[in-house]
Amino acid sequence: MGFVVGLTGGIGSGKSVVAEQFAAKGVPVIDTDRIAHGLTAPSGAALPALRATFGSGIFDVAGRLDRAALRELVFADAAERKRLEAILHPLIREESARQLASVTNAAPYTLLVVPLLVETGAYRDHLDRVLAVDCAEETQLRRVMARNGCGRAEAERILATQAGREARLAAADDVIVNEGELSALTPQVDHLHRLYLGLAHHEG
Ligand code: ATP
Repeated sequence: MGFVVGLTGGIGSGKSVVAEQFAAKGVPVIDTDRIAHGLTAPSGAALPALRATFGSGIFDVAGRLDRAALRELVFADAAERKRLEAILHPLIREESARQLASVTNAAPYTLLVVPLLVETGAYRDHLDRVLAVDCAEETQLRRVMARNGCGRAEAERILATQAGREARLAAADDVIVNEGELSALTPQVDHLHRLYLGLAHHEG
């Protein structure tokens, strides 16, 4: 199925900015967050199961998913979060596999962005390499507060639902440090791009 690199990292670590740099080199990027978004957009494939499981309280009057209400529900309750994941994760895996199959022949390697790679353990069998974006938790908190316009308590609550830095680093073959300027990413991405081209070539 071609050489696939899994990109992971905690919230606000910089997965999107890193993925953009690989994409700028022509590397196909498949983002499981984007797939999840599509599954829950109007007429998305996950909507019937979400309605059946969580009721109409997570939908607005127009029948669209109320993302804020759903987020509130699952962040407050781990059991609800598990029910949501049980619906979404199989659908996301299915769609990822479909997209991977359609791009992997056209490129030396593909980047699959999986924010919860370490938490779910899924995809590991399909990945040739795991790349983690790393920064201090304090940096994550600062970025999440700035981007979401939320307070420290809420940002900490989200971080607490995710794997810690150590677990993520332990699962990674490669690490990109995203602590300082964005420009510091460029040489790291350059280096890994060369590495992955070599590995993919070797394997193929
Ligand atoms: P999420 O899991 O929430 O989607 P992510 O890991 O994809 O997050 P990004 O969206 O890439 O993270 O970055 C989070 C925020 O921090 C964005 O607003 C981004 O512009 C900013 N950011 C990321 N890296 C840096 C950096 N090195 N310097 C300044 N701002 C940064």
